[in-house]
Amino acid sequence: MSKLISKWNYPTTVRFGAGRIKELPEVLEATGIKNPLFVTDPGLARLPVVSSTLKILDDAKVPYGVFSDVKPNPVESNLTAGIAAFKKGKHDGVIAFGGGSALDLGKLIAFQAGQTRSLWDFEDVGDWWTRANSDAIAPVIAVPTTAGTGSEVGRAGVITHEESHTKKVIFHPKMLPAIVIADPELSVGMPAFITAGTGMDALAHCLEAYCAPGYHPMADGIAVEGIRLVFENLPKAFADGKDLTARAHMMSAAAMGATAFQKGLGAIHSLSHPIGAIYDTHHGMTNAVFMPYVLAFNRDAVEERIGRLANYIGIKGGFDGFAKAVLKLRKELKVPHTLPGLIKDLDMSKKQKEHIADMAIVDPTAGGNPVKLTKKAALKLLDEAIAG
Ligand code: NAD
Repeated sequence: MSKLISKWNYPTTVRFGAGRIKELPEVLEATGIKNPLFVTDPGLARLPVVSSTLKILDDAKVPYGVFSDVKPNPVESNLTAGIAAFKKGKHDGVIAFGGGSALDLGKLIAFQAGQTRSLWDFEDVGDWWTRANSDAIAPVIAVPTTAGTGSEVGRAGVITHEESHTKKVIFHPKMLPAIVIADPELSVGMPAFITAGTGMDALAHCLEAYCAPGYHPMADGIAVEGIRLVFENLPKAFADGKDLTARAHMMSAAAMGATAFQKGLGAIHSLSHPIGAIYDTHHGMTNAVFMPYVLAFNRDAVEERIGRLANYIGIKGGFDGFAKAVLKLRKELKVPHTLPGLIKDLDMSKKQKEHIADMAIVDPTAGGNPVKLTKKAALKLLDEAIAG
């Protein structure tokens, strides 16, 4: 019994369902935000999904500012500009509206605007989060428009440190949004590539959490059902973006993935993070490329677990059946089978591979992989993902 040690945290209030974005003014009131900064990305800012949401605020006579200088895989200059907008507009909270990039940046603006220390002092290392002034963190309402990262129910923001080309995770418990509006109607406009990539991100979160060692039956249970939802609904959402039921289930799976990964992630993410930071690739799509190679690498440690999972989700053939199902799903979603299929200008030199492997083994997710990710193993996985 002594090994049964764990720590469980739960996500925040989620108002889930089609059309619930109209509750935004009420949610602002419940959160005590009187003058929010609406944070989104430039692509979304041009779409009706943003103008119709802002109209809800206009109709309710809520004063607000808009900040949309957020690149996919956000960087520090986005945050600096966002904080300046937050202070200039004397805002008292953030509506983070978009995919993981806008959600993370919105959360980071609300977190960092009131701090006096450098952002990098709050990296997710040990108890560094205790260095922050908790009272200075502004409230956030999170509104996801993709279904993958689950950032809306998470206590961290991912941001690229440009000088070192490294994705850093900034963590604080109070970075958790106060209320989430998960309205699947907002995700129907997602292009097929983003639907596939974000959906595979949700799968990667659930799968790596489920395979991570440690006692966390709640994360395991959530992850297993999240995986079932992805297999059942992602092909439907990909084939018909207007399938609201499939979109809704994918939004659930995304939140479930992020809830489950408090248990840990693994080598899919450890390899995907340096690739994303160096080549600016889509995070979920990069995870999707690495998935079958890492699954095979972990086989000895997870064969029995994956067999149970396969049984639960109705896939025959245990581990092999599940591995085949992953390959089939990737193919159906037009996920590139190799890294060169994802990145045209991929540098395949020994020096670059060594550099990526060095970054992968120190990535904070590496410790959650069920088989130790050594440099030799990271290089082998990279070679496999290059050759196919
Ligand atoms: P994204 O936010 O980068 O968005 C990708 C593209 O999709 C953008 O061009 C955006 O304009 C577009 N888009 C989003 N919603 C749309 C919609 N409804 N209709 C049309 N276009 C839409 O993509 P993402 O995968 O959601 O987020 C990736 C980011 O999240 C990365 O920076 C990654 O590192 C981070 N991330 C964070 C966590 C976390 O726990 N905080 C977890 C995983 C990933």
